[in-house]
Order: sequence, then C-alpha cells, then structure tokens
Amino acid sequence: FVKSSVIEGTQPEGDSDQEDIDAKDILKRELQDERKTLPIYKFRDELLKAVEEYQVIVIVGETGSGKTTQIPQYLHEAGYTAKGKVACTQPRRVAAMSVAARVSQEMGVKLGHEVGYSIRFEDCTSEKTIIKYMTDGMLLREFLGEPDLASYSVVMVDEAHERTLSTDILFGLVKDISRFRPDLKLLISSATLDAEKFSDYFDSAPIFKIPGRRYPVEIHYTKAPEADYIDAAIVTVLQIHVTQPPGDILVFLTGQEEIETVDEILKHRTRGLGTKISELIICPIYANLPTELQAKIFEPTPEGARKVVLATNIAETSLTIDGIKYVIDPGFCKIKSYNPRTGMESLLINPISKASANQRAGRSGRTGPGKCFRLYTSYNYMHDLEDNTVPEIQRTNLANVVLTLKSLGIHDLVNFDFMDPPPSEALLKALEQLFALSALNSRGELTKTGRRMAEFPLDPMLSKMIVASEKYKCSDEVISIASMLSIGNSIFYRPKDKQVHADNARLNFHTGNVGDHIALLNVYNSWKETDYSTQWCYENYIQVRSMKRARDIRDQLEGLMERVEIEICSNASDLDAIKKAITSGFFHHSARLQRDGTYKTVKNPQTVHIHPSSGLAEIRPRWVVYHELVLTTKEFMRQVTELKPEWLVEIAPHYYQLKDVDDSGTKKLPKGQGRAAL
Ligand code: ADP
Ligand code: MG
Repeated sequence: FVKSSVIEGTQPEGDSDQEDIDAKDILKRELQDERKTLPIYKFRDELLKAVEEYQVIVIVGETGSGKTTQIPQYLHEAGYTAKGKVACTQPRRVAAMSVAARVSQEMGVKLGHEVGYSIRFEDCTSEKTIIKYMTDGMLLREFLGEPDLASYSVVMVDEAHERTLSTDILFGLVKDISRFRPDLKLLISSATLDAEKFSDYFDSAPIFKIPGRRYPVEIHYTKAPEADYIDAAIVTVLQIHVTQPPGDILVFLTGQEEIETVDEILKHRTRGLGTKISELIICPIYANLPTELQAKIFEPTPEGARKVVLATNIAETSLTIDGIKYVIDPGFCKIKSYNPRTGMESLLINPISKASANQRAGRSGRTGPGKCFRLYTSYNYMHDLEDNTVPEIQRTNLANVVLTLKSLGIHDLVNFDFMDPPPSEALLKALEQLFALSALNSRGELTKTGRRMAEFPLDPMLSKMIVASEKYKCSDEVISIASMLSIGNSIFYRPKDKQVHADNARLNFHTGNVGDHIALLNVYNSWKETDYSTQWCYENYIQVRSMKRARDIRDQLEGLMERVEIEICSNASDLDAIKKAITSGFFHHSARLQRDGTYKTVKNPQTVHIHPSSGLAEIRPRWVVYHELVLTTKEFMRQVTELKPEWLVEIAPHYYQLKDVDDSGTKKLPKGQGRAAL
C-alpha cells in the first residue's frame, strides 16, 4: 500500500545558505541541552572512569535513559575514537538507522560522515566514520575481514537482553578477542535486570546501573479473552482517543501486514468521526518501512492532535518515542520457530513473555503516569505467559552461523563458549544441512563452495542457489531472483478498491505458469526494460521502493560475484536451468501433491499448502520447491516453483534417493491414508 504523502527527513540538508547554518546551530544547541536532561547524563564521568579502569563492563539502564545515543558520544568526547572506531550493535536495522540519524544530529554532522550505520545491503559510513551503529549481524560479518577487530577501540553490544542469535555469537567472539587485545573495551548493555548472567559470562565483569525515571503505570486487562486482537486493538485506540486526556498511543503488533491493516482501518474509521474529535495521526514503524517515513514517529505531535504509533517489537526496547501515555498490548509477537528434528523453520505468531509485557507497559510511563491496556486477561498473564523469551539460539536454524564460524576457522563448535549452548541436535542438523549443500565435506571442513557461499550475506540456501547458478550458466537471472526474494513480501500491493486490477496485473507475470520465482524475475526484468520506470510500477501495482531496494541488493550481489569469481551470464530462455539452480539451494524445501489436494514435504513428511498469493495456487503441480514456510491458519509455502522429481536425485544425491521421489508409491496408498496422516 503506497502512502501518497512524503515526509521530509529531519536531517538538515545543504549549508549553502547562512540562514540554514544558523538554524543548524540553534538545533544543535537545543539538542545539546536536551542531552543533559537524560538520566544517564549524571553518570557520565563515573561511567567514563569505569571504562578507563575495566576492560569489560555490563551496563543496565531503563529504556530511554540514553544508553544507545549517549554512551558512544561520551566515549568520543573522552578520546576513545582517536584510537579506533566505536561500534554499537543493535538487533534491528531500523534501530541502527534511526539512532545513527539522531546521534549525527546531536553532533551536528552529516549522517554517514563521523556518525554512520551499517546494515545488511546498506553501508552508510565513510573513511571519516568514528561512531558506527550496526546490526549485530553486520559486526559478525566484519570478523570475516578483520578477525581481531583491529580498527575498533570500543565495542558496545547493545540491547544484549534481546539475545538474538548474532548477539549470542558475538558474545563468544568478543570475549575471545578481548583476551589478546587488552586495549579493546567491551560494553554489554541491557535494558533488563538479568545483568548477573552477563557479568558471570564475562568473567565477573562489573555491573554499572543507571537508575531510570519511571512513573506509575496503570494496567488494565480484558475481562474475557479477545477473539480478534486486531479488532480489539482498533476499538481500544478509538476509545482512548475519544475518552482519554491528551497523550500519544503506542500499539504493539506483530508485523508489517498487521500494521498496514490497522493503519487502513483506523484511517477509514476516523474519517467518520466528524470535526468535534481531534485529529488522530497514524504512524507505522516496522523493519521494511522506507527510511524517509521512519522519522515521522519522532516528530512532536501538534497541539490538539493525538499520535498513534503502530509498531512491531522494535518499540519494546530499541526505540524510545517521547510522549507515549497509552500502550495497547495484544500480547503477541512474531517469532521464528525451528524444529531441529525435521529441520523445518517457520514464522509464527506467539504469545509474548512476562518480561516483554512489562517492558511494553513501561513505555507508557516515561514522561508521566501512563496506562497500559492488555488485550488479555490477568489470568492469562499470570498463568499462560512464560517469564522470559527463549534465546533465539535455542530455537533457530544454525546453518548460517555454523557457516560463518567455520569460515572464521572455528571448527570445534561443541566447545565454543556459548552463553547458553544450542541444542546439540540443532548443531548437528546445521552441519548436516551444510554437508548436503556441499558447503562442508564429510570431515566437516569448509569446501570451495562453502567458502564462496560464506561471502554472501544470505542464508546458506540462497547463497548456494547463487553459487550453483555458475554451473547452469544463469547467474544473471539467479541474482535477480535472490534480490527479489531478499526484500520479503512487499513487492505487490493490492488497494482495496482495485483488487481485481491488481490481481490481473500480478498474474501477467505468471504467464505460462512459470512459478513464483520466475514471476519475480519477470517483474524485475520488465521493470529494467522500462529503464526502471516509476510509472510502470504504479501501473502494475508494484511498490517502487521495494524494487529500488531489490536493485541495490542486486548491485551488491553482482559485486560479490566478482569476488568469488563467478561470471555473470544470462540463460533466460532455459527456465529449467534456472529452476535447477533454485533447486540446488532449496532442495530441502520440496513437497509433493497428495490425493486430498494438500502437499506433503518430501523428506520429513508434513502437511503443507500453497499460499493463496502464489501463481501456482490453482495449478497445483505434482512436485514443488518452495522458498519458505509461514504458519498462519495453516502451514503455507510461500514462493513456489514446479520441479521435476528426478532433479532432486540428480542435484542432491546424498540427500535424496530414488525411493524418495518414486511417484508410484503414493498411488498405491489405500484410500484415506493421506488424510489419516493429518
Ligand atoms: P536507551 O538506549 O537507554 O533506551 P536512547 O539513547 O535510545 O535510550 O534514547 C535517549 C533519548 O533519545 C530518548 O528520549 C529518545 O526519545 C531520544 N531519541 C532516540 N532516537 C531518536 C530519534 N531518532 N529521534 C528523536 N529522538 C530520539
Ligand atoms: Mg537503546
């Protein structure tokens, strides 16, 4: 869904004009005063003294106390940046970008110069950069080029309580290098109170506590469980808006799709409210939101209006939005879940933990007393929510991390210094998967293919697909497909009043039932043929921004192809070659049609369905390969392409035997057996 208004960035641009310079100076001075009001300011000198004295410090402070934006600046002011860069990691892209923008403003420098950020596929830094905000995943990748992080003087692992997979691996790596780099300072900062655990892990590092200010928060529960939390959230927003005193609202939703739905419905419903009710400004924020719209959530709410921020988990601790007085917490978030036994990974909407619920509630009491509306019962809270979220390392596919660690020369994964070791089953599964992808040999050593795959900042299946494109002489097509897959689910849009048109436009790219991967390729190539025309995107109900992002990603993949010495060549007429390259990466994700019309995954039989948005949803080919599984009402395969079963044996002989792809077996099944397995 395309928003018609474009919001100006808050970054002051261009200093050709004297007035601009003055305005910039005033802004900078104001921001400097604002910095001094943050809770952390009183502890500035004490903190710097502690950094001087100890190599590793654990820092704990309430969200919004100024850890992320201030500490790197204090370190800079104290001269640490003269010895090397200050890195500050964030689990989320948007947080890295937004915080870097804020800090560059406070320092009065252009974003990307002294202060920059680095996220996957986007490096906004330069030679000048001394404070670098980055995702934890990007710092992990920097180890590949600079194993001792020699260009850094301080590494701040921020939002450590989130315990993302990359953060957990970083813990092990930075702990290791701190032993032979006594000059490297490590700061582990967290918003919650589980600091002891971090301290224990880092050889009893001292804990520095920053007392935050927090006002009382009134918690309201629903009397009975809500059948539809989206609807309940919308009703609650409107009730607050018409009955409660001024103050902004923050709603926690699970992802982009939900946020867009709520955004649209709220716009629709407030239109009918008449002029007596004040204006409701709706601000969405999620990972794929275009940069220029991200700044909008921080703009002060005009007098007489009310702002409602529709956010993912990002607003739980990573971003602090001033002025929030009401929080609406439906109690869910989207998490990746992984079954190491079957190797199946799926995104699903899960109840949050008590710790999350309390963080969320706390967001309403930062600047004054607040209210939190939990869209669940107090019984649910007490008895159904876990105390803490399980660290990602315990519930995810580890293939990517294992490949990275192997490329860093870390072979003994079982004895790697994990804060919480992953299940050994998951480690084994990852090794198995990398072996099947030919990234590791039977002794568990990196192969040439594996080395090439590790160069790509992508999941191993995607990078294998790219590396395999060399063999099928279709690298040009395959990197376009990989780029389109990497931007996720935001290519097509479907305005409510033009759904038929939008669906027809989309089907055009599927002519010949080529499958979703080739359809994505068709979209990319058609756009390219129009010389990257914006008009063409409008006409075809395609998001221009997503396409531009795909083009950026593609440019970078092209650069990486040169690094791994794979020539870019095109084989557009041979769709089977392209499909074989896809299968080379994704053969784990194959499924076969059952007699009852559902699909069953080939290796670890599980019932799955083609997502209704797929061009093959009606066609239902006998054999398919899919990009990912998404669990909503059912397990859906998203991005599906037809394959020939013999390819599986040809491409992955150590994974599939002839009996796995024998078609006759299913036909002999006694009646009803397909269903019985459900
Ligand atoms: P912490 O890391 O301790 O949670 P932060 O350093 O992120 O705290 O936030 C300190 C203050 O800076 C908050 O009041 C927050 O509102 C403000 N802030 C952070 N990022 C931005 C931004 N992009 N725009 C405006 N204000 C911001
Ligand atoms: Mg922070």
